[in-house]
Amino acid sequence: MENHDILVRMDALETRCPKLGHQVPFGYCRKESGALPCSKALVCWSHRLPVELVLRKFLGDEAYEAVFNGTPKSRIQVLLEAIEAAKERCGTASDRP
Ligand code: SF4
Repeated sequence: MENHDILVRMDALETRCPKLGHQVPFGYCRKESGALPCSKALVCWSHRLPVELVLRKFLGDEAYEAVFNGTPKSRIQVLLEAIEAAKERCGTASDRP
């Protein structure tokens, strides 16, 4: 079986998301933060997959460390980033005809 096929099968596995309150596939968790995985992925998936190994291989060591071993953001920092993202979305939407 090819690596791509293995990833496709893993992406289809589902678990209950404690943040969303319903089932989500691993493929969602793997890209929950844009191109990066959800910071809770190790906790949520360790019972189903060798998730640390999979994500470390998929992301590379630098990105893996940034996601899972980086300094956690403060609530204010998260809020400010959400506001900036919303401003960008609104700015983009208001540019449309
Ligand atoms: S890894 Fe994140 S998105 Fe995926 S189930 Fe856990 S909390 Fe939800």
